Amino acid sequence: MQLIFATNNAHKVAEIQAAIPAGIQVLSLRQAGIVQEIPEPHDTLEGNASEKSGVILALTGQNCFSEDTGLEVAALNGAPGVRSARYAGEQASFADNVALLLQQMAPHTQRQARFRTVISLRWKGQEYLFEGICPGHISTAPMGDGGFGYDPVFIPDGDTRSFAQMTLAEKNQYSHRAKAVAKLFNFLAHQ
Ligand code: IMP
Repeated sequence: MQLIFATNNAHKVAEIQAAIPAGIQVLSLRQAGIVQEIPEPHDTLEGNASEKSGVILALTGQNCFSEDTGLEVAALNGAPGVRSARYAGEQASFADNVALLLQQMAPHTQRQARFRTVISLRWKGQEYLFEGICPGHISTAPMGDGGFGYDPVFIPDGDTRSFAQMTLAEKNQYSHRAKAVAKLFNFLAHQ
């Protein structure tokens, strides 16, 4: 079974490829020969995930899925949320976003946060949504240099290390994306 994963983010592709059961082949956009950027114009993760899978379905006519992820920080009323990639501005780097987050969090002792991933699957013309949530908290300084995005400042519940201090397999034991992907593959296993 072949599925196109509507992303150009190599980190996401690596995480998902590490979680794929035998018999399913996931192709990144690049591997599927698609080079265009897909817009994320909506104000919900669901809306953006749906948009991305819809664009790829329209382009290829093939079964495909996309995901959108946000970091939701309780003390910041759920920010950066759906704006996680652009938190410090349209061209912001991961380091810019982390720096702004730590600055915004400086007055707060309540540092609870969660990552939330929404996957939109287009399967035989129907759309299915799968959600994965990873609860944790924001550290007071970056720790580790693995992973991507907010990984250096996110510590999942049940551990004392940040995601950036873990191997990919260790991150996948906790992660929002791995949980959403497990639901996706469970669905596919029953088709
Ligand atoms: P996207 O819109 O789903 O590509 O992701 C939004 C932003 O959230 C990314 O640019 C990253 O900064 C951040 N992000 C998404 N997933 C993760 C993760 O697993 N760890 C750390 N940051 C993440």
